[in-house]
Amino acid sequence: MADYDLVIIGSGPAGMTAAIYAVRADLSVLMLDRLAPGGKIINTNEIQNYPGVGTISGADLAIQMFQHTQELNVPFDYKTVKEVRVGEDGVKTILCEEEGAVYTAHAVILCTGTDSRTLGVPGEDSYIGNGISFCAICDGAACKGKDVVVLGGGNSAVEEAVYLAGMAESVTVAVRSCLKADPAACDKLRSLENVTVLEGWNAAEFYGDGSLKGVRLKEVSTGEERSLDCAKVFEYIGQIPATDCFQNLGVLNEAGYVEADAMMRTRVPGIFAAGDCVVKNLRQVVTACADGAIAAQSAAHYIQNL
Ligand SMILES: Cc1cc2nc3c(=O)[nH]c(=O)nc-3n(C[C@H](O)[C@H](O)[C@H](O)COP(=O)(O)OP(=O)(O)OC[C@H]3O[C@@H](n4cnc5c(N)ncnc54)[C@H](O)[C@@H]3O)c2cc1C
Repeated sequence: MADYDLVIIGSGPAGMTAAIYAVRADLSVLMLDRLAPGGKIINTNEIQNYPGVGTISGADLAIQMFQHTQELNVPFDYKTVKEVRVGEDGVKTILCEEEGAVYTAHAVILCTGTDSRTLGVPGEDSYIGNGISFCAICDGAACKGKDVVVLGGGNSAVEEAVYLAGMAESVTVAVRSCLKADPAACDKLRSLENVTVLEGWNAAEFYGDGSLKGVRLKEVSTGEERSLDCAKVFEYIGQIPATDCFQNLGVLNEAGYVEADAMMRTRVPGIFAAGDCVVKNLRQVVTACADGAIAAQSAAHYIQNL
């Protein structure tokens, strides 16, 4: 016997979609998340490419998805999962950081997404949360009338830089190679008067006096250095899988992403995966939701055949 048919770890778009499909397939479901439900989109300014909703704030889309799970009475617990064990009888035990929080289930869907990558340069550890941010939505308001720096040149960096330019005095975007975001987003960024784009520049050090005062940049090809005084630096230099807690399962590739087949099955029977934590080419809301639906259907099939 297990507490639940299915435990879903992570309540971003993948986890919430999996929950909706699993409940409709008549499974008893528990959804866990270390943070508020919604996943990364909570901190995304605008989502413009989720079909059927036009332009919507990430937070609004997250709330709508969570409301949908609540209309279906999906239980949700604030818990940080630290390990999943598989018993000889196939029952999965989900152990959490919080004392006494242990759940059992016949099937588990891993939907823990990714975390922000960091640079590992001097000063970074000291100023994360104290000048260095990964979330323009959370910390942008504090930049009103100030100079800020955005590191990175992908879609996230460019879109968030455009958002910040609406409130900051100036935004400097520094990118190691060149802007690689969608052309329309790059054009928009370059058209803004208070934005400077520095291509071919690396962040070499963060400096300050207890709170961040700026970032030292190094030109990649010449080694030339320059210091940019600023109130805040926003890092958008990529993501790493949030899968440390699944190391023991033997389902991760070398980069830490979960290997799953087209039915979102991992190599461990009864363990499925969905969303950004999975090996895939396109990490977006729409693909996370699609994975979640397939994973839930596969979990239902697995449980029906136990
Ligand atoms: C800045 C930015 C802008 C973006 N803009 C867009 C966009 O415009 N359009 C688009 O389609 N996509 C966009 N994306 C991508 C989109 O956010 C992701 O593809 C999507 O959120 C993935 O959903 P997910 O459910 O797989 O993972 P996530 O949304 O990352 O959710 C994972 C959840 O798992 C939880 N979790 C992690 N570890 C644990 C643990 N050990 N225990 C319990 N819970 C855990 C996390 O707290 C989180 O809530 C953007 C991403 C970023 C970073």
